[in-house]
Amino acid sequence: MTDPRPDTIFALSSGRPPAAIAVVRISGPRAGDALQALIGRIPAPRRAALARVRDPWSGEMIDEALALWFPGPASETGEDVAELQLHGGRAVIAAVLAALGRVEGLRPAEAGEFTRRAFANGRLDLTAVEGLADLIGAETEAQRRQAYRQLKGLLGDRAEGWRRRLIKALALVEAGIDFSDEGDVPATLMEEARAATRRLLEEILVVLADGRRGERLRDGMVVAIAGPPNAGKSTLLNRLARREAAIVSPYAGTTRDVIEVHLDLDGYPVTLLDTAGVRDTGDPVEMEGVNRARARAAEADLVLWVVDAASGCPVSGPEADGSVWLVRNKTDLLDDSGEERAPGRRNELEKARKKQYFVHCFDISASEGRGVDSLIKALADAASGHIDAEPALITRARHRMALAETSEALGRALQQTDDDLVAEELRLATRALGRLTGRVDVEDILDVIFRDFCIGK
Ligand code: GDP
Repeated sequence: MTDPRPDTIFALSSGRPPAAIAVVRISGPRAGDALQALIGRIPAPRRAALARVRDPWSGEMIDEALALWFPGPASETGEDVAELQLHGGRAVIAAVLAALGRVEGLRPAEAGEFTRRAFANGRLDLTAVEGLADLIGAETEAQRRQAYRQLKGLLGDRAEGWRRRLIKALALVEAGIDFSDEGDVPATLMEEARAATRRLLEEILVVLADGRRGERLRDGMVVAIAGPPNAGKSTLLNRLARREAAIVSPYAGTTRDVIEVHLDLDGYPVTLLDTAGVRDTGDPVEMEGVNRARARAAEADLVLWVVDAASGCPVSGPEADGSVWLVRNKTDLLDDSGEERAPGRRNELEKARKKQYFVHCFDISASEGRGVDSLIKALADAASGHIDAEPALITRARHRMALAETSEALGRALQQTDDDLVAEELRLATRALGRLTGRVDVEDILDVIFRDFCIGK
């Protein structure tokens, strides 16, 4: 007979080997069996125990490890969880994973499956799952702080509170409809429901009017490095990133794909995009790169328009406002008096400046590093203006959509005069809020509240 219980899953939960330590996690009803098979016992709950790990079939010793036992439901996934902290060598890990694979009822976990189980077992709501993903992906201090708060329920708990109040309001409306033949009762109930709905709507609107600061912090300030081929964009990117992320080559048009580099500037996240040499070309592959570059640059918060100060190429930039900065590169090629070798160049740049194309201009040498520090300083200032490190409740477009939907339904509920339609709008609002946290068991909760509500009537 097949086991009706869920599979027990296992995976290497720590980073890529080799490393000093590797953590293998096992979750599910047979996690205890797995420990018995590999280390011959189950340690006391939540206490590290030194254990010899053996291959249960050959009896051969694989490694000495620390073993931990977290019986469900008070575990990370809500199931029985076992953890082995092994020496982080490839062969050690391979042998332990192979041994686990041979224990009956165990299989390797799929991507995200531990967290999925935590969600399914009510250990995390959807916003916390997202917070966990963001915490793992956080690159700066402010991002980490925001992700941690999300994991700990900053938005999830708030949304759950709203949802409960909304369900109460809905219960009032439904009671009003039920008792509509009892004179004054329904009018007071409806009034109470309306007042509660109005308060909720006001609170949600305040949260929505946050200037998107949570999303901005999560995504970072996106800076596109654009300009004509060979101006030194890749060289500048490498200098800013201080590593060889983009291929620097003396031939035009070698960076076909958009290269992304994530920077931490004074604690603010900045994503740099190196766009392919923007120029029209007949080569379809290169054209694709050019199109993608233009699309990404168009979405960027800031564009660094890099030009070769020493060549005669024209300063024609994108439609410019304050969000396009002119970067004159290769100033090391200018002669000592500061004059460009190409006559008339300075005039052209001055004209561009006068036309207010570029509010910000920087003279740099990407290859020698001259002037790059002041550019970095300006970028950090811009990032701090763009990103508010104050924690926000909304950190993703998904949250914003769910809350906007909720507030729209609440707004419509307040406009309605027909009680049944009010109830319907409140139900829609509840569902939208439920989608935010992944809790959609509206009817169950409604039943409970409604029953309580009717006691004594
Ligand atoms: P991109 O096409 O705009 O990405 O330009 P690259 O970064 O590939 O640079 C094109 C060429 O210009 C390469 O040979 C670089 O070494 C050179 N280059 C880039 N920056 C400077 C600079 O500041 N001074 C000088 N002299 N050469 C540079």
